[in-house]
Amino acid sequence: MANFYESVNRNFDSAAALTDISKGLLEQIKVCNAVYQVKFPVRIGNSIKVVEAYRVQHSHHRLPTKGGIRYSSHVNQEEVMALATLMTYKCAIVDVPFGGAKGGVRINPKEYTESQLESITRRYTTELIRKNFIGSGLDVPAPDYGTGSREMAWIVDTYMMFKNGDIDQTACVTGKPVNQNGIRGREEATGRGVFYGLREACIDADDMKKLGLEKGIAGKTMVIQGLGNVGRYVGMISQDEGDAKVIGVSEFEGAIYDPSGIDIAELVKYREETGSIMGFPNSKALPHRDDALFLDCDILVPAALENVIHSDNAHKVKAKIIGEAANGPITANAEAILEKKGVLIIPDMYINAGGVTVSYFEWLKNLSHMRFGRMEKRFNANTYEGIVNVIERLSNKTVTDKEKAFLTRGGDEIDLVRSGLEETMVTAYHTINGLKKRRKKVTNLRQSSFINALEKIASDYKSLGVFP
Ligand code: NAD
Repeated sequence: MANFYESVNRNFDSAAALTDISKGLLEQIKVCNAVYQVKFPVRIGNSIKVVEAYRVQHSHHRLPTKGGIRYSSHVNQEEVMALATLMTYKCAIVDVPFGGAKGGVRINPKEYTESQLESITRRYTTELIRKNFIGSGLDVPAPDYGTGSREMAWIVDTYMMFKNGDIDQTACVTGKPVNQNGIRGREEATGRGVFYGLREACIDADDMKKLGLEKGIAGKTMVIQGLGNVGRYVGMISQDEGDAKVIGVSEFEGAIYDPSGIDIAELVKYREETGSIMGFPNSKALPHRDDALFLDCDILVPAALENVIHSDNAHKVKAKIIGEAANGPITANAEAILEKKGVLIIPDMYINAGGVTVSYFEWLKNLSHMRFGRMEKRFNANTYEGIVNVIERLSNKTVTDKEKAFLTRGGDEIDLVRSGLEETMVTAYHTINGLKKRRKKVTNLRQSSFINALEKIASDYKSLGVFP
């Protein structure tokens, strides 16, 4: 099976060949600028465990660098390099002013107690601080596979112990709990962004016609692999706000299928209570967890790990659209097979960029030391109320209380975050899809996403005067 980093670089090369960026500049954009590997001891019970960890900063063309931290027993240097690389392009595509980075700790978090995980996280943070690999203007981590707001809270707390007096210390990491200087809407952000991306793709009547599908996400059948932070929100929001129907779900313990639709919020609750998705009311078990990937559906959302669709199984995929919620779920070889079958692949570096977009909002909130909406919410509400009152007086008609409450609302933090995220994902989709349609040699959205990112990064380097 192709290695993840190799796949990313092969995709880079195929898109780079369609640009007129010079060879030297392409080389500079492609390579990882800094790779930090560390091994540190942590006391686990009566013994000492030596933990292997990484932080890779792929591109310093913009600072700080930004990217999540992954806890998994599969973590290795090339995986973290691949993920850091994708972060650079992701930030460029959604116009978030960061270079890409990623961290990885090679542990299976399920094998440790909460306090052991806390020790590992605090020690890893200390190692990052020692090497200047964390800080609001240097490198800002976030959650990824196997981590969440709990780990981010330990990171910011450790950082604050060392950097007492740094007024921007809370901006050293994003994805924090809301009561620890986090932002409302960060937890759902990646999944919500995936939903906006899929919705935009389904609005394009020409693209849908080519796939033999009706326009619009409503009524489309969906299968999700991985019901973690990303996958669960893709499912819940696609059902609630898009009227899509999730007919299959795969998790670590197996896969289930229900053609009449699976309520994802209920399934998440069921898994929390029973420890498994298996046996969920009305659902049928599939023989193997990966069988969900091959169900007949309109939209497949791999939201677990990389390389799950590869050259040996790509021919079995029946979905017409694949939204790469996970990073790198389709290998470069598998992509060639799927493209021949006419599958529309919406690439990771665009569709899962909602997380870093809202992380950017959180970083800005921390640097401004103020919640979004605090200044303008009441002012806007009063102004809208004035407008409604004038209209009522001039027309001699009154709106209902419900209409009035809706029309006179001032935007709060969650409204502004969702609106900023929607704007970002919609604009970026039309940019990459427009580029694909305009440039004859560009055959898919991955190429157009890469080209969009490469041209922006090349322009940044040129404006620094580093390259002609
Ligand atoms: P998570 O740890 O919250 O959830 C991942 C889920 O996938 C877990 O429930 C796990 O049990 C399940 N899983 C693992 N192997 C599986 C398999 N073989 N089959 C089915 N299910 C399996 O992780 P997450 O944060 O949701 O991240 C998932 C993917 O999305 C990763 O590729 C990550 O890099 C990417 N991503 C995450 C974010 C974010 O904000 N968290 C942002 C962008 C991209």
